[in-house]
Amino acid sequence: MKKNYIAGNWTEGVDYINNINPSDLSDVIGQFAQADINQTNMAIDSASAALKEWSDSPLQFRSDILDKVGNNILSRSQELGMLLSREEGKTAAEGIGEVIRAGHIFKFFGAEVLRQKGDFFNSTRPGIDVSISRSAVGVVGLILPWNFPISIPAWKIAPALAFGNSVVFKPAQLVPALAHALTEIIVESGIPPGVFNLVMGKGADVGDTITNNHKVNAISFTGSVSTGRKVAQSAVSRMAKVQLEMGGKNPLIVLDDADLDRATDCAIQGAFYSTGQRCTASSRLIVTDGIYSKFIKQMKEKITNLRTDHALKKETDIGPVVDQRQLEQDLSYIEIGKSEGASLFCGGERVARETEGNFLTPALFIDTHNNMRINQEEIFGPIASVIKVKNYDEALNIANDTEFGLSAGIVTNSLKHATHFKRHSQSGIAQVNLPTAGVDYHVPFGGTKSSSYGAREQGQYAKEFYTTVKTSYTAS
Ligand code: NAD
Repeated sequence: MKKNYIAGNWTEGVDYINNINPSDLSDVIGQFAQADINQTNMAIDSASAALKEWSDSPLQFRSDILDKVGNNILSRSQELGMLLSREEGKTAAEGIGEVIRAGHIFKFFGAEVLRQKGDFFNSTRPGIDVSISRSAVGVVGLILPWNFPISIPAWKIAPALAFGNSVVFKPAQLVPALAHALTEIIVESGIPPGVFNLVMGKGADVGDTITNNHKVNAISFTGSVSTGRKVAQSAVSRMAKVQLEMGGKNPLIVLDDADLDRATDCAIQGAFYSTGQRCTASSRLIVTDGIYSKFIKQMKEKITNLRTDHALKKETDIGPVVDQRQLEQDLSYIEIGKSEGASLFCGGERVARETEGNFLTPALFIDTHNNMRINQEEIFGPIASVIKVKNYDEALNIANDTEFGLSAGIVTNSLKHATHFKRHSQSGIAQVNLPTAGVDYHVPFGGTKSSSYGAREQGQYAKEFYTTVKTSYTAS
């Protein structure tokens, strides 16, 4: 029975839920505590009480703790990566890679603690100096999705702690094992009681309480647009700082002059790896008509060679869908696509394997146009559509014709088109000759339109959200 961590104590839940392996529904990973509203408020109170001492603590102390967390994550990357794959369903290579990324993020922010700097200005008035400093925002509530169970928590928790904030961490209900393991590592690092709290539980209880409790000064949320909207409305109504990372409907443009192999590799990697369950997944493949026939032929060959199976098997390329609810959503979009007149070119089959799991083969639709629901709504599964266009201009218009704006890619050998695309794609991330998914951890991450709201996450840009700015005037 795995407990929550509140006010420096491992705390029994008011209830427990089973964590089920989506590759093998008979495999129960463990029972995880569920907090209620009272326990969530206790966690917020403890974060509030611990805040001053932590934000005033010597930089070396905070830096050492974050560095130690990073090292411990890295030293356990194999074991934690396998656990991640077991609970979320991405392949072992993807799971281990995600854990390593989380370790690097903590080490990055361990060093970033020491790079906090202010600014100095001469005044417009005589005899006055102006200095700019940054300080912690306060108690930070972190509300997380299930699809990256350790790297997204890492890229919120590490900067929050680095800049002297105290934390109430609410993971998604589907992935408590990695949240619990990460908490154990943070506790072992010697973090003072109350500074970091883990509250597993329902969005409607724990998440809603974090959003509405006036002692929470800032909320960083990653998840769906519909939940993000609710979180933002509550947070803004009580003037709390808020940052949202949400969905995507990311386009990958393939132009006639593209290297075909590269184009299909980018499309396969971007659309189907991690079972397509990435906010940066390429779900719209926008292909000019000179390369279209060769592109879809090669896509079919490569898709057919992908093995969908248990996430921990060596030969598996595509793991299972995370749970039954998401599987039903994926299957319903396959039906929606067909009913809209799209042709299911390959895949999209529910398949049986040695173990009973949520296995769905990667699906590719052709004969689609951008107004179809399958091209406008986020599916969040291993499903992509090809949209045939005449030229680059049409491709760019279609790429931008979406309520989302997270990541956008182009595969081309034309410097002119690549340069134009980087300037004019309405997205927070532009990728040239690379998949739309796959980003570095030391540079900003985020999107435009309904994909993101508020300051960027990650790298040095993270300080915009996790600090507040003070301007001090001194007369001599
Ligand atoms: P979700 O919106 O269902 O849940 C996200 C979190 O919000 C969970 O912890 C959930 O318990 C909590 N929650 C639910 N109701 C709440 C409420 N009323 N108040 C406060 N919190 C509440 O999203 P999900 O299904 O876990 O994740 C998938 C979504 O996340 C997709 O839309 C995906 O695109 C998005 N995502 C975005 C990024 C990004 O960085 N842009 C990264 C990963 C995932």
